[in-house]
Amino acid sequence: MNTTFGMKFDTLAVHAGAEVDPQTGAVAPPIHLSTTFRHGPAGERVEDLEYQREDHPTQRRLQEALAALEGGERALAFASGMAAISAMLESLPAHSRVVIPDDCYSGLRNLATDFLPERGIETVAVDLSEPEALRAACARGVALVWAETPSNPRMKICDIAALARIAHEHGALLACDNTFATPVLQRPLALGADVVMHSTTKYFGGHSDVLGGALVFARADERFERVLHRRHVTGATLAPFSAWLILRGCRSLPARMRMHCANARKLADFLAAHPAIERVNYPGLESHPGHAVAARQMRDFGGMLSIEVRGGREAALRVAGNLKLFINATSLGGCESLVEHRASVEGAHPVSPQNLLRLSVGLEDVEDLIADLRQALT
Ligand SMILES: *Cc1c(COP(=O)(O)O)cnc(C)c1O
Repeated sequence: MNTTFGMKFDTLAVHAGAEVDPQTGAVAPPIHLSTTFRHGPAGERVEDLEYQREDHPTQRRLQEALAALEGGERALAFASGMAAISAMLESLPAHSRVVIPDDCYSGLRNLATDFLPERGIETVAVDLSEPEALRAACARGVALVWAETPSNPRMKICDIAALARIAHEHGALLACDNTFATPVLQRPLALGADVVMHSTTKYFGGHSDVLGGALVFARADERFERVLHRRHVTGATLAPFSAWLILRGCRSLPARMRMHCANARKLADFLAAHPAIERVNYPGLESHPGHAVAARQMRDFGGMLSIEVRGGREAALRVAGNLKLFINATSLGGCESLVEHRASVEGAHPVSPQNLLRLSVGLEDVEDLIADLRQALT
């Protein structure tokens, strides 16, 4: 049912998985809440669905859209981004080694320290902004390289094509967390990655009101089948209404990303010139060490940035507390701008610098956002 072949990206975002309902002519997709689907007396499939934990019509539409947008053969939706990450990592055989980025989403780090060792999966944290560091780590044998670019929260950039080459030379797969960039800005599968992961809770959902995750596979191969089987059995499937909301988010994703990017770029310029700021981590700034790679592999630089405030932890907390429009909250990718002192929410062993604040730049008028930061920094 590939009616979307050959469409340009923004058209795909609107039309992928959006077939008019053949029964009613409804243009917006119906939501089917049924947990079970009729089968024959000996369990023969009648329609092509059986039980909601395995699949349901809205999740199917979403998966079709995600595969089209990332340019993969198949996509799997999950109940959250972490469910997607753990499905992928826990599908590896015991005694596998996995490379993860030194700067990454804290949930991945927690999975790596608290759960993967019990399964005999060893993780090594590597600075993946240096491809040669990956080569060194691969020398001891690696099953999977997990990249995240831009990374959370330091906005490190890694060269996806270079990492894919090195991983493949060593017989490893490359998976890429594309949550910050979204396929609007960056398509890792086209650069050689084997799997893309999303927390669809963020930009895909786009309104801070739905939790979800996804894996998109370049090939519908054995690995895909294994992860699919795992989701069927363990049940980290996406609920129908959540799938529906995330699918709706796809339609406006390119338009929203343009404004997130434009606002973030203006904020980055303002902050880079502000005397109270020691450092701005935004790949769109020419001073960013990953700028050249980001300019090559991304269409624009995204709506996330982090700042390191002069004066350390106390100064950073004062700025976060002074902000009026930016809301102090975790998560990202919604319409409203958010700020978070990451070190405070990273548990007993924070890894983010104590003077770092992460900003999720929303869709407000950028003049208001700049005014809010200006008053908070004085
Ligand atoms: C939020 C996030 C996740 C985890 O996703 P959840 O939907 O919260 O489970 C993973 N990676 C990145 C980069 C994220 O921002």
